[in-house]
Amino acid sequence: MDFDLDPPLIALRDRVAAFVRDEVIPAESQPVDDALVASLRAKARRAGIYGPQLPVEFGGLGLGIVPLCVLFEQAGRSFLGALALHCSAPDEGNMHLLSLFATHAQRERWLRPLAEGEFRSCFAMTEPAPGAGSDPTMMETRATRVDGGWRIDGHKWFATGAEGARLTITMAVSDPDAAPHKRASMFLVATDSPGYQFLRAVPTMGGHGLGGHCELQYEGVFVSDDHVLGAPGDGFRMAQIRLAPARLTHCMRWLGAAQRSLEIAIARVKEREAFGKKLAEHQSIQWMIADSEIDLHASRLMVMEAAWKHEQGSDIRHESSICKVFVAEAVNRVIDRAIQMCGALGFSSDLPLEHFFREARAFRIYDGPSEVHRMVIARNVIGKT
Ligand SMILES: Cc1cc2nc3c(=O)[nH]c(=O)nc-3n(C[C@H](O)[C@H](O)[C@H](O)COP(=O)(O)OP(=O)(O)OC[C@H]3O[C@@H](n4cnc5c(N)ncnc54)[C@H](O)[C@@H]3O)c2cc1C
Repeated sequence: MDFDLDPPLIALRDRVAAFVRDEVIPAESQPVDDALVASLRAKARRAGIYGPQLPVEFGGLGLGIVPLCVLFEQAGRSFLGALALHCSAPDEGNMHLLSLFATHAQRERWLRPLAEGEFRSCFAMTEPAPGAGSDPTMMETRATRVDGGWRIDGHKWFATGAEGARLTITMAVSDPDAAPHKRASMFLVATDSPGYQFLRAVPTMGGHGLGGHCELQYEGVFVSDDHVLGAPGDGFRMAQIRLAPARLTHCMRWLGAAQRSLEIAIARVKEREAFGKKLAEHQSIQWMIADSEIDLHASRLMVMEAAWKHEQGSDIRHESSICKVFVAEAVNRVIDRAIQMCGALGFSSDLPLEHFFREARAFRIYDGPSEVHRMVIARNVIGKT
């Protein structure tokens, strides 16, 4: 196997790294709002690094998954980095879905302005109990056939970015009698549709990024047939196609945050003294650094291998589950150790570590909780043994 990156990719990676270091990290102390994001995106465009994942015809760089993973790690070094490059969740995954499955008219209406950053989008699948969660086939939101389209009724929550979004890609059961994974469809729901209600941004332990994690109600929301994304009944299939590579890019964004956390901790322990020597000279600190380096190295290799297989055309659902479990847990360990090495300073908001720590906790839950991925991995392994 060839583990070297092409020189043009190395140059692009270094440009993104420099942009994040020089333009994005200095903006971290400002309130995160649409105006800040728009100004960072304007700078990213000028730097020629806007929308690395977007098709060229939509103003992006049109890169494949391997270079994307490399760039997303650099973007992830700041919680503003992916927003600045317009490759943050959930817009990134939604734009990917639209570019794969939208009709020409849907692409012009939704993808083009979304790619331009004219509005934000969200993705609504999860429901409060007893509805869809770890097991999405428990979905209760219904899309009922009516004259000229569909009527949607249901209750969703944890739709990231829904506050202020203009588009909600909504999963709803459109054929309750079909096989479990063929029951649901995806609908493009404009948030000003009559009957669509934004209930609240759910308070969470995270940092309340743009648009929060939101609870939504659908009461007789009408969408015409041209608002169905892909074919009716294909909702779960498309969700999987959205999620398998999106899990890798998510892993790489988090890897960037974890890598930066380790670097911050190392800078601190090289300076701070206790018990007559630098903290970096204490063996238990060195072990924490070593364990974090091992976690980061293993995570990076694992994701890059899965990305490479995806680029070769392989089905990477198994590999992406492995990456999701390992990286989500490794990232939490690395950030936790970084806080420990920095002591009280690590717990303070003077460093970005506490922010990363609060946000990273959810990574073990969203995109499938670790337990569900372990279940799937074990089933695959048992099935082929
Ligand atoms: C920050 C954040 C952002 C999110 N963004 C979105 C979004 O944009 N759109 C969206 O639709 N959803 C989103 N979600 C929801 C997320 O996808 C769900 O939380 C996830 O699918 C788990 O569903 P649940 O919370 O209902 O957990 P539940 O289904 O209630 O499960 C609870 C726990 O049970 C355990 N468990 C479940 N199944 C098994 C099993 N088979 N074996 C062993 N243990 C098991 C796991 O530990 C799991 O964490 C987000 C969640 C968070 C925290």
